[in-house]
Amino acid sequence: MLTIALSKGRILNDTLPLLAAAGIVPTEDPDKSRKLIIPTSLDDVRLLIVRATDVPTYVEQGAADLGVAGKDVLMEHSGQGLYEPLDLQIAKCRLMTAGAVDAPEPRGRLKVATKFVNIAKRYYAEQGRQVDIIKLYGSMELAPLVGLADKIIDVVDTGNTLRANGLEPQELIAHVSSRLIVNKASMKMQHARIQALIDVLRATVEERHQA
Ligand code: AMP
Repeated sequence: MLTIALSKGRILNDTLPLLAAAGIVPTEDPDKSRKLIIPTSLDDVRLLIVRATDVPTYVEQGAADLGVAGKDVLMEHSGQGLYEPLDLQIAKCRLMTAGAVDAPEPRGRLKVATKFVNIAKRYYAEQGRQVDIIKLYGSMELAPLVGLADKIIDVVDTGNTLRANGLEPQELIAHVSSRLIVNKASMKMQHARIQALIDVLRATVEERHQA
């Protein structure tokens, strides 16, 4: 059995057509189903529906053989137990700092609100800047508006959400897209099967980007 961990939303919507090209089609619509384990058209492949930030954990621990996770989530997870063989070039966005338009540089230490605490620590440490990092779980855009933080670090696509809240994207930390990730033991034990799947997915991704 091959188990593939995915999260609902953007990643699921963009991954299903890629899996379909490999002959893997869920037997029910994961968006409508309440099931968390979804069989597919192939008897030996199933999907696990998990939170985006949990995908690397399931794959690293071997509860799933493969998964699809955003580069932002992988950078934040910073585990060692994963292979990342393929950039699926889906769910693209940018990881950026953002702040209020025309805000003056704060006196004293910069306060940065984010759910990407590890990324934020690394980013400012590389610049030799001492900052206070405030962990949030959502609605980051609010933090600079109410004085909780000077800046935020978040993923940005069009920037509309930032602009709607009087914020602007500032420094680019990383370009983000979703990656196929593979458990290290699975890659050894089921090498032919997994390599064949990677090859089909790679060909599909390349074909799309040549079109
Ligand atoms: P935007 O188009 O910049 O207004 O993005 C809308 C919201 O979706 C923002 O709050 C982002 O945090 C989120 N977002 C945009 N692109 C992605 C992505 N590829 N993966 C996860 N979240 C995203």
